[in-house]
Amino acid sequence: MKFNEKNCVGCGVCVRMCPFNAREMFDDLENGIRKLKFYPERCRRCGLCKEVCINSAINEEGGVDEIKKELVFCDKCGAVLTTRAHLFYIINRLKEKYYANQTLRRISAENMGIETRDLKLCPLCLMEEYKKVRAI
Ligand code: SF4
Ligand code: SF4
Repeated sequence: MKFNEKNCVGCGVCVRMCPFNAREMFDDLENGIRKLKFYPERCRRCGLCKEVCINSAINEEGGVDEIKKELVFCDKCGAVLTTRAHLFYIINRLKEKYYANQTLRRISAENMGIETRDLKLCPLCLMEEYKKVRAI
């Protein structure tokens, strides 16, 4: 039940679902890294993590015990949004519809080296932005 390094996007869903604490997640805010760990000695092979994984990133054989992914922070308040890999996963799933969300537009623009006024925003800061727009 180790991580498939290539497929794992660091969303943390498997960590939250494991009933036996065999998976842990830690956000290193100083270095902007999310670390996920699998503890084989605690695993009872119930299969739940594999079932809920959003990107087929749990191997029954092989794989790695530890994953590190770059974190993305809200440009206004500094809250953790999620990992960059997770945001790319969402962009790929939404296809052209991702363009309705300014955080996803910004992530895509950063990837292409394009300058934009869009910001990466957490839900609370996004709500504040909407309120300002509606008040105009
Ligand atoms: S197989 Fe079950 S016990 Fe093992 S890591 Fe996955 S959810 Fe946890
Ligand atoms: S649910 Fe899948 S993609 Fe998300 S952190 Fe766990 S292994 Fe990685």
